[in-house]
Amino acid sequence: MASHQTVLIPGDGIGPEITRAVQKIFSAAGSPIEWEEHQAGHASLEVGGDVLPADTIEAIQRRKVALKGPCTTPVGQGFTSVNVQIRQRLNLYAAVRPVRNLEGVNTRFDDVDLIIIRENTEGLYSGVENQLTNDVVMSMKIATETACRRISRWAFRYATQRQREKITVFHKANIMKLTDGLFLRCAREVHQREYPNIKYEEAIIDAGCMKLVQQPEQFDVLLLENLYGDVVSDLCAGLVGGLGIVPGANIGDEVAVFEAVHGSAPDIAGQGIANPLAMLMSSVMMLNYLGETRDDPACRKTAGMIKTAYNSALAAGETTRDLGGRLGTEEFADAIVNRLK
Ligand code: NAD
Repeated sequence: MASHQTVLIPGDGIGPEITRAVQKIFSAAGSPIEWEEHQAGHASLEVGGDVLPADTIEAIQRRKVALKGPCTTPVGQGFTSVNVQIRQRLNLYAAVRPVRNLEGVNTRFDDVDLIIIRENTEGLYSGVENQLTNDVVMSMKIATETACRRISRWAFRYATQRQREKITVFHKANIMKLTDGLFLRCAREVHQREYPNIKYEEAIIDAGCMKLVQQPEQFDVLLLENLYGDVVSDLCAGLVGGLGIVPGANIGDEVAVFEAVHGSAPDIAGQGIANPLAMLMSSVMMLNYLGETRDDPACRKTAGMIKTAYNSALAAGETTRDLGGRLGTEEFADAIVNRLK
């Protein structure tokens, strides 16, 4: 069986624990993946490396696919986010986060099945901040027609391929007339000229958030610029049971990096209680991506096996504490491994 050499970045905080759980499940499933481990974040600083070592970036460029654990970013000071750097340097312009209810995870809503598509390279994450005077600081929101059109095309193509019906753009173009205005114009034009098959609607983000928490089932695919996509991802995670079950992918034209939406969760790191499911679901997205882009049925088959195993574990009430269960990280991984036998 062909194996795919894939970069693995354990990351910080709960990253190494949940990464080990994923590796254990992959090995039990006989997955066609060979891991090439590299460091990033605090983990790399601790062994005397850079926060984002050149060999980590080079390995992702060479292998084209990576599974990444969360990396801690200092608040209000210190180095630029490793996560943002990876997305910008590798031009991973589309972040995709599927958010859906899972059987066995009780929440206020039953029919949530939406996909968040977030522009991943610009907006307020461009990192252009200046101290203008002692009293004034400034952060620049950057939007380019190239990036706005590119993410719009990507979203409509994705929705069409996945047989989704509707795209809703969240924006604040009533206030940010130029930047969000450009984002909206590109989305409208791509819809009208290239993808009239998909229904299209727009919502001002404040009202959109209210509708999301009242009737999330009315949304299908959400398209957002960078910051809105970040915030709305966590909001949507809360609709279906929390950050422990929302996976993600950062996709460019050549390279893709898969990672959960959640961060390094320093409050529970090292306790063996983190939910590895979001990371596992991200790795299943990675297998499906490899299956599609490299036309390898073995990847799709392994993805299907792992998905069936975790769905049946959840349905049987085998869950970690964040979902109301009692299992630790390793015990939950073992529950999945047992269902793969
Ligand atoms: P967080 O997502 O790490 O944690 C938020 C809350 O959710 C915490 O209470 C945490 O315990 C819980 N949680 C998160 N993942 C969980 C899991 N798998 N199982 C059980 N509970 C889980 O957000 P934060 O605390 O705001 O950020 C912590 C650090 O992570 C910061 O340095 C931040 O910059 C970084 N971060 C990194 C990424 C990334 O690497 N892509 C994403 C978001 C935040």
